[in-house]
Amino acid sequence: MQEPRFLIQEHIDYIQENFETPVYVYSEAELRARAQEFLDFPSMYGHTVRFAMKSNSQRNILKLFSDMGLSIDASSSFEAMRAIAAGVPVENIQISSQEIGKDMKELIEDGVFFVATSLHQLEVFGKLFPGKKCGIRVNPGVGSGGFTQISTGGNTSSFGIWHTKIDQVQEIVEKYGIIISKLHFHIGSENTPESWVDSVEHGFKILRQIQTIDTFNMWWGLKMAIMDYEVSADLSAIWEALNKKYELFYEETGRKIHLEMEPGKYLVINSCSMLVEIQDIVDTGETWYKFLKTNSGMNDMPRVAMYGIQEPLHVINDSDECEDYVVVGHCCESADILTSKLYDQETIEPRKLRKAKKGDMLVVDGVWAYNSSMSVKNYNSYPESAELLLRESGEIVEIRERQKVKDIWRNEKEIV
Ligand SMILES: *Cc1c(COP(=O)(O)O)cnc(C)c1O
Repeated sequence: MQEPRFLIQEHIDYIQENFETPVYVYSEAELRARAQEFLDFPSMYGHTVRFAMKSNSQRNILKLFSDMGLSIDASSSFEAMRAIAAGVPVENIQISSQEIGKDMKELIEDGVFFVATSLHQLEVFGKLFPGKKCGIRVNPGVGSGGFTQISTGGNTSSFGIWHTKIDQVQEIVEKYGIIISKLHFHIGSENTPESWVDSVEHGFKILRQIQTIDTFNMWWGLKMAIMDYEVSADLSAIWEALNKKYELFYEETGRKIHLEMEPGKYLVINSCSMLVEIQDIVDTGETWYKFLKTNSGMNDMPRVAMYGIQEPLHVINDSDECEDYVVVGHCCESADILTSKLYDQETIEPRKLRKAKKGDMLVVDGVWAYNSSMSVKNYNSYPESAELLLRESGEIVEIRERQKVKDIWRNEKEIV
């Protein structure tokens, strides 16, 4: 049986004694190691690593990354405010959002960098800030992702300005005297190194049309293996191929383009595990399924129910026997399954796990990205779970308390 990624028995005992489950546990060592990998990228003409904070917006993690030299991509003005509150310098924050928030003007005045994701947004920016620099997000007409739901480019995607509308971009630029200094591309998640290299050319086409662009922010996601049958993208192969492309572009145009990378998932997904308790074991008799019921589920870890992805599960005990189990969450919702068929969240698929007893702990690995931050908050009125940080020193500290149940209804007004 495979062991948990970083939680060892000693940690689990300590957490059980001192905290309540379910609980998220982050590994500082793993977070730092992944971030360093990107910082060390041997870019041709300089690069910025921008953490896509929507994947996890915990203030300590934002601060830790920011102190290491990472910048931030915010997907809404609220995320930008959250990053500022966490202590990220305002000039290191960029907003590329589907909506123009009420506070956008103030945030830009304070120094947040704005990326227009539609012609309307560009027009609004131009009116408010004539003469100022901004970026544009472009949909290059191709999208791709490890699976279709996480593709964010192509004609089925509303993200970004459609690539044939650069003339209209130029009209707005001239009308307000604004300067487009950054091209922003994000066509999907969990792509292969080959699709990265191909997609760069689509960006260069736009760089040739808009001479003022000095920064190309490109991110089409990278596969980071969490299950043992998966293979992580080969970063060094991407680096090499990208550098070659940037160098050729320089030879052609004399422009040294600054590279920006915007990882979310790759940077962090394996840096968090969730510790939950197996509270009950039931079966459906001779029709066969055997279910482990846990004290967490889709409210804390929504990615399985949303996308049918698979996460490593480890029953913690010293049994040598294995059994096939369907692991389910505690929500009154048939979709609350932790073992679905891959990319098919409608279909349950039993998983071979160590033989479990009621009261055993279960470790779910690979839950850093898009779990805590995307949580189906307070469904069934389950409070938001606590978050712990396993420091490099080995110390385990609480970085978010478990929500108090009263806080669930705190904003409701009594009128009847
Ligand atoms: C979500 C997002 C990312 C990060 O994607 P991952 O697949 O988590 O690496 C980067 N850039 C933008 C604009 C995003 O919306």
